[in-house]
Amino acid sequence: MIGRGEGCLANKFPRLYTLSIGKESTCNQMGKNINGSWEWNLVWRRKLFDWEAEEAKQLQRMIADVKISQGKPDAWEWVHDKDGHYSTKTAYSLLTQEQRGSRGTEIFRRIWNPLFPSKVSAFNWQLVLDRIPTRMNLLRRGITKDMEEGRCAICGEADENAGHLFLNCKCARWIWKACAKWWGAKISFGTDCWNTFQNFGAWTKNKHTIEGWDCIWNTVIWSIWLSRNQKIFQDKEINLRKLFELIQLRSFLWIKATNDRYAFSLTDWLINPIVCLKVTNGAGRLH
Ligand SMILES: [Zn+2]
Repeated sequence: MIGRGEGCLANKFPRLYTLSIGKESTCNQMGKNINGSWEWNLVWRRKLFDWEAEEAKQLQRMIADVKISQGKPDAWEWVHDKDGHYSTKTAYSLLTQEQRGSRGTEIFRRIWNPLFPSKVSAFNWQLVLDRIPTRMNLLRRGITKDMEEGRCAICGEADENAGHLFLNCKCARWIWKACAKWWGAKISFGTDCWNTFQNFGAWTKNKHTIEGWDCIWNTVIWSIWLSRNQKIFQDKEINLRKLFELIQLRSFLWIKATNDRYAFSLTDWLINPIVCLKVTNGAGRLH
């Protein structure tokens, strides 16, 4: 499917993409020219539900004014080269630019902070790149086929993509709200984990508080993921209050584990986490 300025349409409309029977089709096979104007003919594997039809309308509006050149065969174009030709040289330079870009480097540094268990850092890295096996990702990769299997394992009310599961699901919302109250912080969310993580901690300029807040991010996403898996594989219901308490305990243990001279108690951490992070006399520092 074609993409426009703001990114690939398959990523913007993942459910429609999995329902499309024209995933490999060229533009020419997905519409025709009628009296000089182009008309799309998008075909779905089954009848769309109302809310899916609403998304399809949005998609139609988005592609309605795309100019399709006539008399020129469809071809793939590599947008990162001015002539449209793919080369490993341009791909390599693109990848290294992405990694070196200040935005990427800063996030990379925060994610791979030795404060956190490496399996959690690896999970966070995959999460911000949208590579964890959420149900929608499994559908997109063709590992599951039934659209109903794309629904959120926790609430069943929306598609399970990373943005929903970790930011907008009612479970995630409850947990984040409880964390914000605990830290006296303000959290605003988008639907995208990369951007939300990038802006996380923007409410404070203190390096240690940002680090501690990153610790909360890691603990929350890791704990939600484990609880979600327990619900799927062990049929264990999620108790939000207990999950929140576990997040408080887990974050405390992670911080304590990297510094055996850490002077604060769990009670201090629960009552005033910011004070526990701000002390820089060597006894309360993260590193
Ligand atoms: Zn949900």
